[in-house]
Amino acid sequence: MQKYYLSGKTFETVDPRSGEVIASVAEGDKEDVDLAVKAARHAFDNGPWPRLSGFARGRIMMKYADLIEEHNEELAALDTVDAGKLFSLGKTMDIPNVANVLRYYAGAADKIHGQVLKMSSELQGYTLQEPVGVVGHIIPWNFPSTLFFAKVAPALAAGCTMVVKPAEQTPLSALYYAYLAKQAGIPDGVINVINGYGPTAGAAISSHMDIDKVSFTGSTEVGRKVMQAAAMSNLKRVSLELGGKSPLLIFDDADGEICVASSRVYVQEGIYDEFVKKLAEKAKQWVVGDPFDPNTRQGPQVDKQQFDKILSYIEHGKREGATLLIGGKPTGEKGYYIQPTIFTDVKEDMLIAKDEIFGPVMSLMKFKTMDEAIKSANNTRYGLAAGIITKNLDVANTVSRSIRAGIIWINCYFGFDNDCPYGGYKMSGFGKDLGLDALHKYLQVKSVVTPIYNSPW
Ligand code: NAD
Repeated sequence: MQKYYLSGKTFETVDPRSGEVIASVAEGDKEDVDLAVKAARHAFDNGPWPRLSGFARGRIMMKYADLIEEHNEELAALDTVDAGKLFSLGKTMDIPNVANVLRYYAGAADKIHGQVLKMSSELQGYTLQEPVGVVGHIIPWNFPSTLFFAKVAPALAAGCTMVVKPAEQTPLSALYYAYLAKQAGIPDGVINVINGYGPTAGAAISSHMDIDKVSFTGSTEVGRKVMQAAAMSNLKRVSLELGGKSPLLIFDDADGEICVASSRVYVQEGIYDEFVKKLAEKAKQWVVGDPFDPNTRQGPQVDKQQFDKILSYIEHGKREGATLLIGGKPTGEKGYYIQPTIFTDVKEDMLIAKDEIFGPVMSLMKFKTMDEAIKSANNTRYGLAAGIITKNLDVANTVSRSIRAGIIWINCYFGFDNDCPYGGYKMSGFGKDLGLDALHKYLQVKSVVTPIYNSPW
């Protein structure tokens, strides 16, 4: 194994709790991507992985899942120091769940079926579901572990080989996952992790002539570049999980507490004032601080750039005339912490209501009728997710069918399951992660046709 990448370059990754450097990481560039693709291509064309039975692949994936569970604390800690993610959540949710997503797809690996086609009296045929080939996965920083396996697990089950580029802000846990893959018995060349920057390593993946599919999660702006590069190179298949500006509609009959918020919250006029009061009280109790502290509800932003971007949106909101109900400032002596921030009196044409801020900033708006709420919810170029809080089943049913988004949560928010496909409508992208839908992103259908002579039927 080579010790350093061909580029000879390194970059520094920073702890968002302090702004201090954690480690220097080998920085892959185009020549390193070429090398990784060669390894993946060789493993796909000549290696055992796509040729193993689905059952055998599944067994190795189960072992990989067990190893991840054994290393739970180290992995959760890596995402905490690298991304500022809450350690308690990493340990109890993110890391156990990536083990489970591997198990979910391990169980599906031996249930990949084609169809028998009765074509005509002279022909018969069948379809094969074949792995799509070498896949490039490009992932963002907000869920370094979860998104790594949302892509890698179904691709492994399908029999693909792959090159994975984590976000430059969060390069660490992916290296640990590559190391554990080897221990689990995943053959060399099947999972190749390349750290590096988007315009260099990322672009080399999306424009590579020998990658068959690119699976991207990130911003809509970069997703467009990825699709363009795929089109201009070898027309590789593309799936995009992009940005969102997801609405939550709270109707007058709602009760109970809503603990997870979306970025655009529409509250019906009958409960608006009461809601604003309660929300401000709740937000004051929200503990922002060290993500290793179990009492913390919100850690730091991932890096200085994101921190500055969020603060500039907050300033924009104030200038546009929204009322700052709470927060709006950095907090803590060092690191990239921002107070939970809530704006009221937000108008739909304000930038804070339209753009994805990707930080702890909520915009509150008032509505009168269900139709008005639906119209407002759909008044966005995005369509990732939406939530509805109501006791009225008819309202819940009508609204969930009327909102153009890939997942609708009724009386909850942010509910996920490995069996539940997740992905956007409109400019939030296409192609689902999770569920059996995601497995099919890494498969392609081949029809095999043969003549039948003297068929009795
Ligand atoms: P980003 O688009 O800046 O970067 C995502 C990845 O793309 C990184 O690995 C980056 O290095 C790479 N990249 C950048 N430029 C590239 C280029 N020219 N060619 C190829 N790759 C390139 O996004 P981010 O800031 O890391 O993450 C935040 C975004 O991700 C938000 O918009 C968020 O909504 C989105 N996101 C979407 C989902 C979803 O499921 N739809 C989930 C998580 C995050």
